[in-house]
Amino acid sequence: MKQLLAEEQIQDAVRRLADDISEYYAGRPLTVIGVLTGSIVLVADLIRHLDLPLRVGVIQARSYRGPQTAPGQLAIDDSMLPDIRERDVLLVDDIFDTGRTLAALVDQITALEPRSVRSAVLLRKTGRQQVEMRPDYVAFEIPDGFVVGYGMDFQDAYRHLPYVAVLEADDLAANVLHRIVYDRMSYDRGHDDRRGCFFPDL
Ligand code: 5GP
Ligand code: MG
Repeated sequence: MKQLLAEEQIQDAVRRLADDISEYYAGRPLTVIGVLTGSIVLVADLIRHLDLPLRVGVIQARSYRGPQTAPGQLAIDDSMLPDIRERDVLLVDDIFDTGRTLAALVDQITALEPRSVRSAVLLRKTGRQQVEMRPDYVAFEIPDGFVVGYGMDFQDAYRHLPYVAVLEADDLAANVLHRIVYDRMSYDRGHDDRRGCFFPDL
């Protein structure tokens, strides 16, 4: 894997994002809704720089990705959402790729009759969008490629990296192979304890 965005670069950009957001809402109460799970690191950093009366909630969006990195069917779980009726809402996600996830989330949130909905993402991939909407706040535009770190995973690994890295072809191959071997071992032992799985440092 190859580092794409350094920790300091990300921290500077998140601070600028927070300044823009604080300026826009100008003291009005804001409800920040983080999209699980990829946004947790961004939300944690962003909210500590927001100079506003603030509430924080979460919503879950899964686009069932298998061993490969292609997007699949989208499922949204809003059961953990706080009451957002008549509130100003800022949806925060890790990455705007095709845009289908964020577009669907904005629709779902809008149906709950908030006062307003805006959106912020850490990354936007260029030339991938399949929807009309655009996020209101974008920290970085990046070329197409599968990225991990700063909340973003590949098969549940790498979310804790303080930087963003792009996976390379042999990372994908090595990790998939590792997973297949590991699944086979768990299966042979009669249980699946993948959670404790050690991922080799690629
Ligand atoms: P979209 O619906 O915009 O195509 O995809 C958005 C979601 O897919 C993001 O919230 C993120 O969870 C996931 N995703 C898209 N591209 C990447 C990527 O390069 N790396 C990771 N880890 N997740 C991605
Ligand atoms: Mg996501």
